[in-house]
Amino acid sequence: MARLGRALARRLGRGRRVRERLPTEVDGECVFCRIVDGRGEASRVAESDGAVAFLDLQPVTPGHVLVVPKAHAAHLADVDDADGAAVWSLARRVAQGLRDVGLADGVNLLLADGAVAWQTVWHVHLHVIPRRRGDGLRLLAAWTRPGRASLDGTADRIRAVLG
Ligand SMILES: [Zn+2]
Repeated sequence: MARLGRALARRLGRGRRVRERLPTEVDGECVFCRIVDGRGEASRVAESDGAVAFLDLQPVTPGHVLVVPKAHAAHLADVDDADGAAVWSLARRVAQGLRDVGLADGVNLLLADGAVAWQTVWHVHLHVIPRRRGDGLRLLAAWTRPGRASLDGTADRIRAVLG
């Protein structure tokens, strides 16, 4: 899923299959920018003025799609609102298409922003992951229940910087 990386492959993948590391640049150029401008090979499924959707080279389920803004942006914070809206809009279209073609009964959207969050290609991309009952996909997480006072304290910290 260009590319959730090994860590996510372990968490999202079936069994212990480990995701292969694929090159993120070709001749010093971003692989997704090359796909956007047509020089990079990809199995495209849709395009809009601001975004392109194509199949992930290492799908976690059949029909796993990546949606990228046409304008290069390494991180979520670098994507302007219009491009972000274009990605969201195209991802919604793709998700509906996956249902319509019978590849999905549900969909997970995932955006890995930063290495610690499993980002491995430095051109923002939104994963559209088709889900079927029994597909074996799983996300291991230690869910917590911190209580209202703790939640309010965290919310206060975040609100203070958001203004
Ligand atoms: Zn790029």
